[in-house]
Amino acid sequence: MIVKCKNCFPKEGIEVPVFSQTDKLRLSEMKLESAIRTVKCLMADYKVNHQDAKFIVTHINVSYGKCNRCDFDKLDREYLNCPKCEALNFNWKI
Ligand SMILES: [Zn+2]
Ligand SMILES: [Zn+2]
Repeated sequence: MIVKCKNCFPKEGIEVPVFSQTDKLRLSEMKLESAIRTVKCLMADYKVNHQDAKFIVTHINVSYGKCNRCDFDKLDREYLNCPKCEALNFNWKI
């Protein structure tokens, strides 16, 4: 699946690996501890390049439903662009 964010590079978007529910939980928890470690983990375990790994980590939501960039808090799908600020959110339901 290709996802894009209006505010970020690359403009053409990136291909997101298929993450299991376990992966999502692990990566979200890891991001809370260390974003850098999460980037390294994505590169090592999911074979994504450095740019894509940074892109993914940047867009993982801290709390379900809440936009990473603005105060909008009614996001209702997993990969979507915020209706208010258009930022991409990996709004994983975990
Ligand atoms: Zn973005
Ligand atoms: Zn937003």
